[in-house]
Amino acid sequence: MSQQVVTRIAPSPTGFMHIGTARTALFNWLYARGRGGKFLLRIEDTDRARSTPEATEAILRGMDWLGLDHDGEVVSQFARSERHAEVANQMLAEGKAYKCFATQEEIQAFREEARSAGRSTHYRSPWRDADPATHPDAPFVIRIKAPQSGETVIRDEVQGDVTVRNDQLDDMVLLRSDGSPVYMLAVVVDDHDMGITHVIRGDDHLNNAARQMLIYQAMSWPLPVYAHIPLIYGPDGKKLSKRHGATGVAEYQQMGYPASGMRNYLARLGWSHGDDEFFTDAQAQEWFDLSGIGKSPARFDFKKLDNLCGQHIAATDDAALLHELQAYLAATGQPAIETSKIPLFEATMPHLKERAKTYGELLEKAHFITADRPIQPDEKAGKSLDTVSRGILKELTPQLQNASWTRPDLEMLLNGFAEEHGTKFGKLAAPLRAALAGRAATPSVFDMMLVLGRDEAIARIEDAAA
Ligand code: GLU
Repeated sequence: MSQQVVTRIAPSPTGFMHIGTARTALFNWLYARGRGGKFLLRIEDTDRARSTPEATEAILRGMDWLGLDHDGEVVSQFARSERHAEVANQMLAEGKAYKCFATQEEIQAFREEARSAGRSTHYRSPWRDADPATHPDAPFVIRIKAPQSGETVIRDEVQGDVTVRNDQLDDMVLLRSDGSPVYMLAVVVDDHDMGITHVIRGDDHLNNAARQMLIYQAMSWPLPVYAHIPLIYGPDGKKLSKRHGATGVAEYQQMGYPASGMRNYLARLGWSHGDDEFFTDAQAQEWFDLSGIGKSPARFDFKKLDNLCGQHIAATDDAALLHELQAYLAATGQPAIETSKIPLFEATMPHLKERAKTYGELLEKAHFITADRPIQPDEKAGKSLDTVSRGILKELTPQLQNASWTRPDLEMLLNGFAEEHGTKFGKLAAPLRAALAGRAATPSVFDMMLVLGRDEAIARIEDAAA
């Protein structure tokens, strides 16, 4: 039986949750979920000066919003520092690491000399082979005894074989003189103890992989499969930054993008499955594989994001969509849709969800439902309510009073009415939208009239005509 897949996302809680972290999390989630594996979450909070509880909260919220559920408890890296130290001490006991008593000044002097002599500035500690009997009673760090010749080959599922000459790797510090572990040791010990089988992460960590492998080898631990994925670039081919648009997961949530569309888009950002653009979570889980990850940086395409999100909104079942809208309103601190309006939403949902790329656009179209009389037209809608239009609306109301309130009859009535005024229904539509919804972008005038019902529709038109 093959081993169960265990992946993880290991963000550092030092700010907001970046869209790149979300994509890495998604890739790990898809890989595990598609294989009946586990997906774990570890907060890399060893850097006490930079880690904040707010940043951890932002990560948890982002993961929750994106629906990237993780297995087991959230692991705090900092809480495991004793275990990290234990491993460093085990390496020391086994002769895989050594105590180094060099002072900062000595290391500095070594580097300066190496630099002026044109040699590698990687520190070579005189303590590497020192007899413990000669050890002073002074502060020390624990350094790994790295191989000084040969090469380390990272067998990467995305980058291919990446070879690093061992003389390029120094005897890195594992444990500082205050007994605290360095980040590089913590990552390896945690990944090993958590049983991580696949490390899928940004290629900014590729250089770390070679050094991390030395720790695995020293401990005779099995290596994980590595997949270092290219970072996300902006449309101009430069590293994604604020200049291009939003880079924080929370911003996309605030903008009203649906999580399903976000997952679909982020999956396509650097990974492909043939020509498939629009797909469901089930399909993504079934299809996702490391071989589909591209080697060159993906470019963030805001249009494509809009397009996919629109398709996801349209494909969401009406009841689920109502639920998502309420969650969006709550997450953005807006009042919920009132219970009394819910039947109207239900009746209109099929029209509302067409062509809305975000919840915000959908709610904008639903304004005719959420707004109460007297309807306040926004600036654009207000422009179609000039004196002439108001006169026409005034004439229309008695005819509406006597109409039968069905789509064919209303269509006939309004088309005929437009013709009598020597115009097309299209000309009549703008003031009607303004009267019924107070907006220029709305569902069709007929849909609104039918959903609102005769009394409410006529009352709104009378308000606008007055
Ligand atoms: N904490 C690292 C980061 O946020 C990730 C480390 C890893 O995935 O190995 O970039």
